[in-house]
Amino acid sequence: MAGSDCNVFQFCKCLRLLGNVMILVVLGLVALSYYPIVVTIYGPAMFDQNISPVKEVAAIFVVASFHVLAALMLWSYFAAILTCPGHVPDDFRPDVDPEENPEAMSDKSDPRRPRFCRKCQKWKPERTHHCSICGRCVLKMDHHCVWVMNCVGERNYKFFFLFLWHTFLLSLLSVLALLPYFSEFFKGERNADKGSNPAQLAVSFMAFVVDLAFCLSLFGFIVMHLKLIAANCTTIEMFEKERIKPWPYDKGVKKNFEEVFGTSKLLWFVPVQRDQACTNEERLRLRM
Ligand SMILES: [Zn+2]
Ligand SMILES: [Zn+2]
Repeated sequence: MAGSDCNVFQFCKCLRLLGNVMILVVLGLVALSYYPIVVTIYGPAMFDQNISPVKEVAAIFVVASFHVLAALMLWSYFAAILTCPGHVPDDFRPDVDPEENPEAMSDKSDPRRPRFCRKCQKWKPERTHHCSICGRCVLKMDHHCVWVMNCVGERNYKFFFLFLWHTFLLSLLSVLALLPYFSEFFKGERNADKGSNPAQLAVSFMAFVVDLAFCLSLFGFIVMHLKLIAANCTTIEMFEKERIKPWPYDKGVKKNFEEVFGTSKLLWFVPVQRDQACTNEERLRLRM
């Protein structure tokens, strides 16, 4: 038993260390695309006297969009890392006292039943789960994410989703911006004296392949999370939801989205904390 505890501890420690490497991977991904797109291709094209006005406007659009998306992506990323996912208040007690009302505990199929965390020695509010990597219970826990070195839960799920979303858009922009460069190159219209050398070509090609891979894999991940948000369900609850019909947390698509992103649609894509009126956290506070 002691051996298995040790393995779990080692595993958690390894995941924490891996998280530090992930920051470098994310920053490296931005830099890998930044160099060919802004530094070698579209940045110089903005000041090139010999290109058509259409190409000049396109270059300004690509460089401006790249900066805006990279800023939103990194902002969402660090917000997901630095925001506490939401922990159980010390004085939390379930609505129904399980000692007075033991049948409340008996219906194991009801996700709203009072549950007790033996590791934290605390009652858990609905949708709360214990994370063995963080060593704490997390409100509306979605999963522990190695990329953000943090649990994704009630308070930082919006930032996590926006990180996926803006990374997807940045990768898509990079793929679309590098495509015409490759077609020009392979048609022989771009050569060494026009600013292309083998090293730049290699970096551009690497950025293209990495961005394409991110674009495709993030697309599937984003579709999965959009379906979960629309149904007011977390990754952990995905299988539970299949058994429980109707799903008790489903308030309709609009309200489900507002619960994650807030009621102001202007701020849906900006990684700022949503208004708390419609969140589980507020419900929890009102009940106590
Ligand atoms: Zn716990
Ligand atoms: Zn965690």
